[in-house]
Amino acid sequence: MKKWIIANWKMNKTIKEAEDFADIITGLTAGIDEHLVVCPTFLGIKPFADKVKNTNIKVGAQNCYKEVSGAFTGELSPEMLKEAGAEFVILGHSERRHIFYETDELINEKIKAVINAGLKVIFCIGETLEEKDKFKEVLSDQLEKGLAGVDANGENLIIAYEPVWAIGTGKVATINDIKEVHAFVLEKAHEILGYLPPVLYGGSVKPSNSKEILDLDEVGGVLIGGASLDPNSYEQIARRK
Ligand code: PEP
Repeated sequence: MKKWIIANWKMNKTIKEAEDFADIITGLTAGIDEHLVVCPTFLGIKPFADKVKNTNIKVGAQNCYKEVSGAFTGELSPEMLKEAGAEFVILGHSERRHIFYETDELINEKIKAVINAGLKVIFCIGETLEEKDKFKEVLSDQLEKGLAGVDANGENLIIAYEPVWAIGTGKVATINDIKEVHAFVLEKAHEILGYLPPVLYGGSVKPSNSKEILDLDEVGGVLIGGASLDPNSYEQIARRK
C-alpha cells in the first residue's frame, strides 16, 4: 500500500529556498511510488507548486481560515490556497492549538470549509505529556469535535496522530505505543466516519526511525517537521529503506 510522506515546513524557508528545494527534490524523488506532499509557508505555495507541476509531488498549506473572503485581516481562504496550487491543508496542528489557541470548534469549521472548497484535509490530533495516561479520552474528544458533521468521502480526509510531547523534541513514541494508539484512532475514526481513513504518525520522524514506523500496517504515512527541511532526509524517508 502506498504511504503518505508529508512535509510540514512550518515557518521555515524563503521563497527562494522553497524554489531551490523544489529543484532538488523533483530529481531525488522521481519514480518513488508513494503519496508525496510538501507544505511550504503560504508565500512558498505558488512558487513551489509552479516548480513541481507535472511531477509526483503535491502541495499543501499549513493553515487557512473558514470563510471564502471578507473582513478577516491577515487570513487566507481555502479557495485562495487552491488557486495558488495547494491540494491539501493541515488543520488542528498542535502549534495552532497551543500557540494560537485554536479550539476544536474552529478546527471543525475550517475542516468543513476546506472540504467544501474541494481540497483535502490533513487533520492533526494528539495528546500532551500530561494527558498521556488518558490518551483515549483526549483523542476521542478531538476526533468527535473536529469531525462533527464533516462530509468526508474517503478521498478528502487524512488524520495525523502527533503526540505533542514528540513534536520537535527528538522523542519518538515506541513502536508498540504507535501500534496501540493507531489501532485506537482507526477504530474511533471508523465509528465516526463509517470507513477507515489513512492515519499518519508525526513527531520527530527522521530517516533513522521512519522505516520501522512506515512498515506498520496501522500507519498510513508520516507527517514530518524538522527532518523534511533537508531534501536528502525527505528523500530517504520517502524511499522507506
Ligand atoms: C510536525 O510539525 O508536524 C512535526 C511532526 O514536527 P517534527 O517532525 O519536527 O517533530
